[in-house]
Amino acid sequence: EGLKKYFPITGGVFGRKVGEVKAVDDVSFMVRKGETLGLVGESGCGKSTTGRLLLRLIEATEGTVKFEDKEVNTLSTTEMKKIRREMQLIFQDPLASLNPRQTVEKILMEPLVVHKIGEKNERKQMVKEILEVVGLDEYHAKRYPHQFSGGQRQRIGIARALMTRPKLIIADEPVSALDVSIQSQVLNLLKDLQKKFSLTYIFIAHDLGVVRHISDRVGVMYLGRLVELADVDQIFANTLHPYTEALLSSVPIPDPELDQDQEDVLGGEIPSPANPPRGCAFHTRCPLAMDVCKEVRPVFKEKEPGHYVACHLHE
Ligand code: SF4
Ligand code: MG
Repeated sequence: EGLKKYFPITGGVFGRKVGEVKAVDDVSFMVRKGETLGLVGESGCGKSTTGRLLLRLIEATEGTVKFEDKEVNTLSTTEMKKIRREMQLIFQDPLASLNPRQTVEKILMEPLVVHKIGEKNERKQMVKEILEVVGLDEYHAKRYPHQFSGGQRQRIGIARALMTRPKLIIADEPVSALDVSIQSQVLNLLKDLQKKFSLTYIFIAHDLGVVRHISDRVGVMYLGRLVELADVDQIFANTLHPYTEALLSSVPIPDPELDQDQEDVLGGEIPSPANPPRGCAFHTRCPLAMDVCKEVRPVFKEKEPGHYVACHLHE
């Protein structure tokens, strides 16, 4: 609710604050138990920062995060540790997030050690079982991350996130680094695991095609703000925001008959989040921009039941 994260920009020899980047600027949304909420937008739109704020890996400048009945921002370190068991993160680049000097078994046991789950023998058994669940084998336990393919490594990353039996998983571009042929395997695995373990997902991606495949609802972010949020079918069939429209028309369509070098529908560069445009931050690239858009920031509100948008065209 009202989440903000401003990073200071420092300059000069004394490193004084010369400005700030509004990475997340007044974002509010709710995630329902058992659903997948997709968060999309171009790089730098604040989607990863939002994910980290939810897990309190970084502290919010303003706003609150509630997980079930607990206000995450105000929890003590001990309480926070307890709740971390229930909220896990899957990273984009599994190789960078897996310790190269540890065996898979060691990597997967670590969360159990940190959260004091099970005895040594039980832990070994849990590793064995989880490897099977993510489509790997028992004998993989003794190997090191570099001995696996990208897709297998992401399975290890997913297994690690599952070790503590979380309720919520924030997946930050979990398939972006993988070959297209491997992407759908990993997405299907995530879907299966969701059913099996009653998981709730926040799925972060820059690719609407990927998000469409897995999400129940989708939120679109632009320069630190949510601009549209709706059921996945609504977002695609009844798009309200010109930015979402532009993102949709840039979804690559796997059709050999079509010209692959379609023009960049968005045009123009993403403005710097350190110096976002006044009014509607999208007005510098919006084909439908009006005078009011340059001056007044549109309010994010419910236009139709469950369909939220921030755009003067819909006020
Ligand atoms: Fe375009 Fe104006 Fe809507 Fe912004 S508020 S998306 S500039 S029409
Ligand atoms: Mg990111």
